[in-house]
Amino acid sequence: MTDADVLIVGDGPVGQTLSILLAQRGWAVTVVDRWPTAYTTSRAVAFDSEAARVLSAAGITDYVANDTEPSGRYMWRNAEGTVLLDIQGSERGWCHWPDSTSMYQPGLESALTARGTQLANLTVLRGLEVVDIDDDGEHVAVACVDRDGERRTLSARWVVGCDGARSFVRQHIGAEMHDLQFSRDWLICDVVLDEPRRFDPNNLQVCDPARPRTSASAGPGHRRWEFMRVEGESIEELDTEESAWRLLELFDVTPQNATLLRHAVYSFQATWTNRWRSGRRFIAGDAAHVMPPFAGQGMCSGIRDAANLAWKLDLVLRGRAGDALLDTYGTERGRHVRHAVRMSVDLGKVICQLDPAAAADRDAVMIGARERGVGAGAPQAPVHPLADGVLYKGTARRGGLAGRLGPQARVRQGERVGLFDEVVGTGFVLLSTEDPAASLDAADRAFLDDLGARLVRVVLADGETADGVVADVDGVYLPYLAEAGATTVLVRPDFYVYGQAGTAQECRAMVASLRQHVTAAALTS
Ligand SMILES: Cc1cc2nc3c(=O)[nH]c(=O)nc-3n(C[C@H](O)[C@H](O)[C@H](O)COP(=O)(O)OP(=O)(O)OC[C@H]3O[C@@H](n4cnc5c(N)ncnc54)[C@H](O)[C@@H]3O)c2cc1C
Repeated sequence: MTDADVLIVGDGPVGQTLSILLAQRGWAVTVVDRWPTAYTTSRAVAFDSEAARVLSAAGITDYVANDTEPSGRYMWRNAEGTVLLDIQGSERGWCHWPDSTSMYQPGLESALTARGTQLANLTVLRGLEVVDIDDDGEHVAVACVDRDGERRTLSARWVVGCDGARSFVRQHIGAEMHDLQFSRDWLICDVVLDEPRRFDPNNLQVCDPARPRTSASAGPGHRRWEFMRVEGESIEELDTEESAWRLLELFDVTPQNATLLRHAVYSFQATWTNRWRSGRRFIAGDAAHVMPPFAGQGMCSGIRDAANLAWKLDLVLRGRAGDALLDTYGTERGRHVRHAVRMSVDLGKVICQLDPAAAADRDAVMIGARERGVGAGAPQAPVHPLADGVLYKGTARRGGLAGRLGPQARVRQGERVGLFDEVVGTGFVLLSTEDPAASLDAADRAFLDDLGARLVRVVLADGETADGVVADVDGVYLPYLAEAGATTVLVRPDFYVYGQAGTAQECRAMVASLRQHVTAAALTS
């Protein structure tokens, strides 16, 4: 007997999301956090369409829909005010949620906390610092110390360190961080304006070599301004209320029209772990990767970690898959994260340019690109498709759907119109233009049934629906399949496509491959 199936170290947004995704699947989850109360300081200000989908699947759809705002337009200007880059984020992103959603992080964390309290099998213990972990191969014993110095040991089948950038769990598993050696200091100012003000663009990067600076939405009623430390200035000089107000004045933000909630200097880093797992211990979120915020991907990457690990741990805990499945967590997440960190650094190098001559060259290149119509379109994807891991590549031509994030749009079933994940549900989904069950034999169907997979046929927007049949209200799914030359896709619980099939025979091969991935791992464990 253990105290929990999974013990999560750290109740930040990543630990919260993972704990909910696991507890929703019925597992006994304990979260421990060293602080007696929630950390109420905002760091992240935005999340992407995929993160919104995961958060919605974690049961906080109301928060995501109502207590946030689409980030909207993101523009870069040079010191003279000339536009270098102009990106209009869509309000209908790939997962139906906006490309980018602006939010106030303490609000997000409160929503996740409230959701967690609805789950009887999720226990959050605050004021406990994890100081030691013993993995005997069967169970994990986690030693904690409370605020009075009392020691207490909790046991679990698995432990996940979501314990932030200075992760104890990371050190304990002997992981090392690969460091891109990119570090810049920025003053962060979180502000509430006395009177609402319209910002166009809603998010602005001023690429002024004399003082790179940012103005961004931080959710309804909140704004974030950021100012880079320049040469000849110390962190101590920059990190004062006086400096904050002096710099905020550049944006007509003064003590007469605004409240400064807080200011702090952050030294942005760019690192990732060389090890995501050791035995029964894992790491996720900032414990495994830290990146400058220029692509807004730090927390989003952690939320992806949570979505990826949750379904794999679930299958292993259910005895449906073996230990080897859990090794694919690091393989899959490592590739994503390396791309996100590198992309964030690439953006940072352009934004953080302090050399006036190099900045002038940059401006000339970017203005020229705009004149040629390059670089002003949709935001560059911060996420690469998965290449290795739990995927079926089959016979699809290069660029097939396997490893790519599946879309989400509205569907109709009977009278009900709603988001696919709400109408159909989450978990494995076999989505087809034909009756997906018809191409499978009884053993395949039993296997998918045992996984809790949903078999769904999609028809035209005005088509007839029934149990297991949905109509493609937004006209997304049928063109998506047709363009890929597929009749069927098998989507994983983290919304990534496992594989595609163009014929009934290939559909059977795809399901057989999944069975191999899952049960072969169980047999070897
Ligand atoms: C200025 C700034 C702007 C950012 N903007 C964005 C953005 O727009 N979009 C985005 O996606 N990301 C952004 N990020 C990154 C994002 O804030 C982080 O990636 C995210 O908050 C990390 O969440 P986490 O749960 O992994 O870690 P944390 O939030 O750091 O949580 C870790 C938790 O672990 C607990 N803990 C630590 N050690 C122990 C221990 N030994 N025992 C018990 N508990 C322990 C801590 O108390 C803490 O509660 C930004 C970051 C910064 C600094």
